[in-house]
Amino acid sequence: MDETEKEKWIFAGKIGKQAREYGLSLAKTGVKILDIAEGIEKKITASGAKPAFPPNLSINQIAAHYTPKFNDETVLHEGDVLKIDVGASVDGFLSDTAATVIVGRDDTDLLKATREALEDAINIARPKESINKISSAIEKRIRSYGLSPIVNLGGHGIKRYDIHEGDFIPNVDTPSIRRLREEGAVAIEPFATTGGGYVVDGAEVQIMMFSKQRPSRSKLGREILEFVQNEYNGLPFAKRWIIKKFGPFADMELRSLAGIGALYEFNVLKEQDDGLVSQFEHTLLFDKGAATVTTI
Ligand code: MN
Ligand code: MN
Repeated sequence: MDETEKEKWIFAGKIGKQAREYGLSLAKTGVKILDIAEGIEKKITASGAKPAFPPNLSINQIAAHYTPKFNDETVLHEGDVLKIDVGASVDGFLSDTAATVIVGRDDTDLLKATREALEDAINIARPKESINKISSAIEKRIRSYGLSPIVNLGGHGIKRYDIHEGDFIPNVDTPSIRRLREEGAVAIEPFATTGGGYVVDGAEVQIMMFSKQRPSRSKLGREILEFVQNEYNGLPFAKRWIIKKFGPFADMELRSLAGIGALYEFNVLKEQDDGLVSQFEHTLLFDKGAATVTTI
């Protein structure tokens, strides 16, 4: 891999780690999650990077894809299981990292199981390694605590300006001959739950992504579409970012842009049995036969 490219992957990882740790430091009882999200975003931009995607702040049975809405009044309560999933973009080279905290309380087995599953996976992961070797290790560790891994969420490859690119890494044993890439970035993200281990789409959407250029009948719609295409370059963005820039009518326009297929919607993902969900994630960079964890 080119040295300049490698430096950007590493720098994106470092900023992602700092953003995650900063988010964790803010996660106290009574704090608004909107303030945490905006604090994380400021931290990332102050470091000379951009968010790779909106900070995901998902609570309790919500597994992923929740970012605060415009004027979100949600505050943290003691005992909330909060997942902080963040990433940085340095010229399109990305990081993706997450940690879970129980607000105002000590870790439980739910968190320990997930953190240890990630450690096990990282100890195995290297270029061209069997994907199922990692999946099996994750499942084994989580089940050893009497908890369930989430079957339909997992790790993934990352490419420049593409946060989910190939190499799906299930969190359960899934026999296959698939192997990890030889060079480039991969995110590993075990999820554990007290429920059955399956996430379903909730109705709410707070995160979107450019899909394709489609003719909008509204001037505002055309302006928004052009803006997101140029500004985010195919990376996910928060609805609240667009409402902040274009005003309250943007909310309706975003919905109709999704309706004509111009934008992709990430529905909030929730555990089917309303089980509590925990997640830990790191980004790894493979080069010259070795793996470096960029977000540790
Ligand atoms: Mn993530
Ligand atoms: Mn990820």
